[in-house]
Amino acid sequence: MQVPFGDLKIHYQTYKHEFDQACLRVLASGHFILGPELETFEQKFAQFLKVQHVAGCASGTEAIYLALAACEVGQNDDVLVVAHTAVPTISAISMTGAKPVFVDIDPITCLMDVAQLESCITPQTKAIIPVHLYGQVVDMESVLKIAAKHNLFVIEDVAQATGATYRGAPAGTLGDFGAFSFYPSKNLGAFGDAGAISTNSQTNFERLIMLRNYGQSRRYYHDIIGINSRLDEIQAAILAAQMPFIEEWNKRRLEIAKRYTTGLKDLAQTPNMPGLTEHVYHLYVIQVDERDELQAYLAEHGIQCLIHYPIPAHLQKAYSYLGYKVGDLPVTERIAKRILSLPMFPELTDKQVDLVIETITDFYALRKSTQLQVPSKVVSPHTTVASKA
Ligand SMILES: *Cc1c(COP(=O)(O)O)cnc(C)c1O
Repeated sequence: MQVPFGDLKIHYQTYKHEFDQACLRVLASGHFILGPELETFEQKFAQFLKVQHVAGCASGTEAIYLALAACEVGQNDDVLVVAHTAVPTISAISMTGAKPVFVDIDPITCLMDVAQLESCITPQTKAIIPVHLYGQVVDMESVLKIAAKHNLFVIEDVAQATGATYRGAPAGTLGDFGAFSFYPSKNLGAFGDAGAISTNSQTNFERLIMLRNYGQSRRYYHDIIGINSRLDEIQAAILAAQMPFIEEWNKRRLEIAKRYTTGLKDLAQTPNMPGLTEHVYHLYVIQVDERDELQAYLAEHGIQCLIHYPIPAHLQKAYSYLGYKVGDLPVTERIAKRILSLPMFPELTDKQVDLVIETITDFYALRKSTQLQVPSKVVSPHTTVASKA
């Protein structure tokens, strides 16, 4: 039995009829951009989030960019963010001309360490981007308090946390904007690139829909400088067709996570189950000292694991101009060497999950026996430890 990291074909096979119908309907309509399918999806997604407005756009990266642009974040502004994220979070900041300023993370949650947030604020700071990494929500109460005190915009990066909640409120509805990605492997995924921005402000929404469509208020009237970042009708129809299943899929992810945590709690640092937030396990990430050996052993046994993310943004070549060096973000850098994302997708079977757990258990049993043999030969040839192990 092989255990892939993800499997995007299963979704299509299971709901083939719905998806085929959605695509064929758009093809026959002759309306491909900014049409009724987008409006339907935006409404459904706004209802799901219990938020006033949703604006579809072309990707998660551009969702963050458009939100920043709506706040008029640009050159000479600083944006507070973490380096332990998907690099597109940072690309979006760069697209505005602003400078990313990195806050270190908490070693348990791997999320922004809000205790360090205030000390990173500069006179140039204009916005904070809390990244709800892996499907958990950042401590938003602290973020919002600090943002209010210093008059900063808050743009939540919800790319990995569609459906997660914080004190009962959906992630992406707590700050000024929520930026979502519907990259195919995300908890809600299109069959191509797609994204959306949520906001409770009518003014912000109006800016967003101009910004995503060349800055037009109406055809040929360009009130502000915009870009092209639209969510096309085919992707919108596919997303709307998936909406009825998102809660069920997230529930299954939680079940899988609980099974992993029960099976692995004595072997690895498992994700904490936060009290105030509902984790949607876009990724199930463990922390171990011998990460590379474990990943190689699992691969040899047909289990595919990935690392999210191996190189923090502040140590990427593209961001060397910011002047960060090794040691500047100690927790971020240590975590990058310890994390391992186990297979996680709603269609994963209990049998497959158990196989992952058993294989990790075998890895540690084997390691223990070989480790006991080595010192026994060197230090004390008469000991019986080696033969016992
Ligand atoms: C996927 C992702 C993005 C980028 O989304 P795209 O749709 O690929 O542009 C941004 N931030 C995080 C945390 C992500 O996981």
